[in-house]
Amino acid sequence: MPNCTNCSAPLPQGSIVCAYCGSRNDVDLKGVHYYTTHETDTSRICPRCSIGMKTIDLRIDGRFLIERCEKCLGIFTDPGELEALLEAAVSNVFAIDRTRLGLLSETRLSAEHPISYLKCPVCSKIMNRINFGSRSGVVVDRCKDHGIWLDGGELRQLCEWMKAGGKLLDQERKEQIRKEEALQEEKRKQSLQHSGTGESYKSFDEYGSSLRAQDPDLFSIVSSAIRFFSRL
Ligand SMILES: [Zn+2]
Ligand SMILES: [Zn+2]
Ligand SMILES: [Zn+2]
Repeated sequence: MPNCTNCSAPLPQGSIVCAYCGSRNDVDLKGVHYYTTHETDTSRICPRCSIGMKTIDLRIDGRFLIERCEKCLGIFTDPGELEALLEAAVSNVFAIDRTRLGLLSETRLSAEHPISYLKCPVCSKIMNRINFGSRSGVVVDRCKDHGIWLDGGELRQLCEWMKAGGKLLDQERKEQIRKEEALQEEKRKQSLQHSGTGESYKSFDEYGSSLRAQDPDLFSIVSSAIRFFSRL
């Protein structure tokens, strides 16, 4: 559990405001190895506070710019950036800690905010609320054109989710779905072969040998007809 940077009191999971001294703690950008170098104003507006956000550089693999609101400490990342950020912040995870993931998914984040639909900081359209990753406990706001909004504290939770093998769990589930679909497809093909429609696609060789067994006269008529027509 992180501690308040002002009074050292423990901060409950998912909270960025200290219950003792009232300070806001930037848990997302503390304790993780990245840092900011410069802050500049951006035209993007915080969907929670309706004030301008600042662009900060996390300096991951060179420049890595995200927008952050200084008041609520929420951040906005461009499409694909959040995934890249998590990859860069958390690496070398080889096992899935299911107990930990279970605890994370039960954590109700954003207790400080009532559930509401937020506007995209770029186009002002209402964003979609989506579960980010299996069992992460984080519901993010996403504009499919412009990116993902994270409330203060959510990035930290997603880092913990990554550390507990959440991404591996995601991959495992995707693999399961893929196998399931392949199995269904296989079943579909087999039932097609056994049904009447499948019969008509049999080659003549296959069809002919069963015809020869059943009706030798008809077989000789059909095969001489085929020989005749194939000469034309
Ligand atoms: Zn405090
Ligand atoms: Zn804000
Ligand atoms: Zn947008």
